[in-house]
Amino acid sequence: MKIVFEHLTKTFPGKGKKASPVTAVNDFNFEIPDGKLIGLLGPSGCGKSTALNLLCGLIKPTSGKIYFGDDDVTEIPPENRGVGFVFQNYALYPHMTVKQNIMFPLQNLKGKDKLTKEVMEAKALEAAKLVQIDNLMDRKPAEMSGGQQQRVAIARALVKMPRVLLMDEPLSNLDARLRLQTREEIRRIQNETKITTIFVTHDQDEAMSISDLIVVMKLGVIQQMGKPQEVYDDPHNLFVATFLGTPPINVFDAKVKNGQIFIGDEAVLDIKGAPDGEYTAAIRPEGFILNNNGRFTCKLDRVEVMGRDISVVSRHSASKNVTIRSIISSNNEVDENADFVKFDIRPNKIFLFAKSEAEERVYFEEA
Ligand code: ADP
Ligand code: MG
Repeated sequence: MKIVFEHLTKTFPGKGKKASPVTAVNDFNFEIPDGKLIGLLGPSGCGKSTALNLLCGLIKPTSGKIYFGDDDVTEIPPENRGVGFVFQNYALYPHMTVKQNIMFPLQNLKGKDKLTKEVMEAKALEAAKLVQIDNLMDRKPAEMSGGQQQRVAIARALVKMPRVLLMDEPLSNLDARLRLQTREEIRRIQNETKITTIFVTHDQDEAMSISDLIVVMKLGVIQQMGKPQEVYDDPHNLFVATFLGTPPINVFDAKVKNGQIFIGDEAVLDIKGAPDGEYTAAIRPEGFILNNNGRFTCKLDRVEVMGRDISVVSRHSASKNVTIRSIISSNNEVDENADFVKFDIRPNKIFLFAKSEAEERVYFEEA
């Protein structure tokens, strides 16, 4: 089921007398294709939960419309939208067994939709198998790990075979290892069910690793949407560039003069197409090539060996971050006692951004 947002906006009145209203979702106007796993990504407070709550109908928009396929669902109550919801804190009923928890949404069906106990149990078992907890059906939530509890919550959201599955930071309460494992599970379950799924997270690594498409948000506004690798390789503004990537992108004050990008006094790259002026330049950690005759000189801080790669930590007066991190292959030898380290910059790994409020990308070509 594709999802269409049509100029969807939600403004909350400010809390307290002096507070100004907050537009948590600001003019969402895009389409989510059918059968994909979408990562909705952005810092805390950017409006991710508000967007999900609008989708499932828990809150009403200030303006705009939501379509599931061709159906306008904007005015439809949550229980009739065909949406499954998984919350961060599992929200299981503690006094019920796993089986009872999973069956619960089916027990509310009325009239012609009412199911027999046998059918409900069969459906609960099917959902439990999908998330691989069918051997725990008689346990209570307190007798299970966080990861298992979250699987129960996912099974409960799937038991009615929703048209759309919404997950609001579903991995936040899990420890690091379980988070990795459970996100792979979510990917597998989505592949098997093909239910259009929106997965909310503030963790870019999580979103990048399992999503077919990511949607990056800031202060209620969509910044960019695309395949994870495309957004990483072609960020449209500085916010998107800095939000994606570990280690994070390295940001510098820079200028363009006579067809060259300058960082400090050094012309680090020959380009064409970007007008002369002041810019913010950002270089991905993998964009540095170690070269004793390189064009970009940084003060060497330390070298960290990470197995296959080496992380060179350095400093530069034009850097916006305290240190610069460059990742190079461990085939390279770095003299740890040297005062300086020199690099060349890979042209497709350095981006220029305007020094404007939007900090939008300014494109150039290699000269
Ligand atoms: P996220 O899930 O990305 O952390 P939220 O959607 O929870 O962000 O919140 C987005 C913004 O809307 C925040 O500034 C938050 O304070 C505000 N907000 C959310 N819900 C309400 C509400 N019920 N009343 C007033 N403001 C709200
Ligand atoms: Mg939230």
